[in-house]
This record gives sequence, C-alpha cells and structure tokens, in this order.
Amino acid sequence: MASLDKKVVLITGASSGIGEGTARVLAAAGARVVLGARRIDKLKAIAREIEAAAGQVRTRMLDVTSLEDVKAFADFARAEFGQVDVLVNNAGVMPLSPLLALKTDEWNWMIDVNIRGVLHGIAAVLPRMEAQGHGHIVNVSSVGGFVVQPTAAVYASTKFAVRAISEGLRKESNKVRCTCIYPGVIDTELANTISDATARESMNKYRAMAIQPDAIGRAIQYAIEQPNEVDVNEIVVRPLATQV
Ligand code: NDP
Repeated sequence: MASLDKKVVLITGASSGIGEGTARVLAAAGARVVLGARRIDKLKAIAREIEAAAGQVRTRMLDVTSLEDVKAFADFARAEFGQVDVLVNNAGVMPLSPLLALKTDEWNWMIDVNIRGVLHGIAAVLPRMEAQGHGHIVNVSSVGGFVVQPTAAVYASTKFAVRAISEGLRKESNKVRCTCIYPGVIDTELANTISDATARESMNKYRAMAIQPDAIGRAIQYAIEQPNEVDVNEIVVRPLATQV
C-alpha cells in the first residue's frame, strides 16, 4: 500500500517551486492532490505529468488573498474527492527590500499572501476537520521564521507569524495535526518577486547553494504518513552548505 493511501491533500501555490515539488512527491506516494495557484496553465501542465505517472490530481485557479476563493478551493476538493485530509499552506511571495526603501505596497502584498493566505486556508478547512475528528494542516514558514537578515524585516515577520499561528493551532486542537516547515534556500522562482536591485543581487549569491524542492516534499510526506496520533510539529530543512 502506498504510504499516503489516497489521502486528499490540498496544496496552495502549487504552480512552481516547493508546491509543485511537493505535489509530485505526495502524488507518487499515493495521495490524491488538489493543486491551487493563480497560473492555471502551469497547474494543468503539472497535473498532466502527474497523471501520466498514474497519480490522481485536480487543479483549480486560486488566489489565497481571497477568503471566498480559498473556501471555494476546499469545496472543490470535497466535490471532486469527497473529503479533505491535509492542507499544505505553501503559497508565498518574497519581495525583499530595506525598510528605508518604503516599498509599502510590497509589505502589504507579503502580509496578504504569506499571513492572510495561511489564515484563509485554516478558515477554509479547520471547522470540517474538527467536526470529522481528524485532519492535518501543514504551514510553510522559512528559516526566516527564526532569524531576520537585512532586507528581510517584513518577509521574516510574515514567517514568524506563520510559526506563531502554527504553534497556536497545535495548542488549540487535539484532533487536527499541525506541522510547520522551515525551509532554508531552495531552488525555486521565489526571488523573482524581488524588485530592489541590492536585495536581488545578494539573494542571487545566497541562492547558489540552493537544494531542490522535492527535499521539502519528502519532509511533508514524512509528517503526513505518521500514525494519526503522531503530530510532527516542526521540521527545518537546510542545504548542507548553509553556514549562517
Ligand atoms: P515560488 O515562487 O516558486 O512559488 C510560490 C508559489 O506561490 C507559486 O506557485 C505561486 O503561484 C504561488 N502564489 C503566489 N501568490 C499567490 C496567491 N496570491 N494565491 C495563490 N498562490 C500564490 O517559490 P517557493 O516555492 O520557494 O515558495 C513556496 C513557499 O516556500 C513560500 O511560502 C516561501 O516563502 C517558502 N520558502 C521558500 C524558500 C526558498 O528558498 N525557495 C525558503 C523558505 C521558505 P502563482 O504565481 O501561479 O499564483
């Protein structure tokens, strides 16, 4: 029997990077995956490849900044597969810049996607998970949820928030499992959202050591495949080459 045994797993931000890599890993392990993001063409292309490898997958356009949209995403998953077992709150953006650059629109964008998006995901699935007596919410924070670097004050604050939300959820529920994942640098499109030239240059150097997104997918698989009474709360995954 595949380790994830037809569990229905919703993944936000599944059109690239960690979300895409996680979708491929979990589908290969037997999960039925439901992929959401704004770029529907990319989702459909990923889904075709998952299906070609005998995986079960559905796709839906999703903007996590809209609570109604995230609720509709969860309803879509229930309509297609009959249940929701796991939500991976992964969608995120990282337009790094120094505070003095006053990129206030980008601050708000990060808050909307990285914090509100996670809360919207929780709102969309938690009541049903509590009612059915089981469920699992996986939140993707960052090593920026522990340490703040210059240009990352706002981004890191959103990831500290994801850590706090995860810890609160863990303490409030004895039915729903909660896992917070803290990736180090991973080879994805995340740095494409950086508009500040200095921040982009220093991030390009840092990203040279990046590891592949499937490393995070395997960490998430590990948390999901544990017996129901086992709650894996925090996993940090860094490139071996990381020195800071
Ligand atoms: P990518 O840019 O490759 O992926 C980000 C995903 O989020 C895309 O699928 C994007 O899809 C989606 N997304 C962005 N905005 C929205 C939105 N409003 N609604 C729905 N989906 C959205 O980067 P990563 O894979 O690296 O990022 C995934 C997560 O991992 C993020 O939370 C990030 O903070 C975290 N992380 C990444 C690290 C890294 O080094 N890469 C390190 C630590 C944490 P679309 O544009 O199609 O909507």
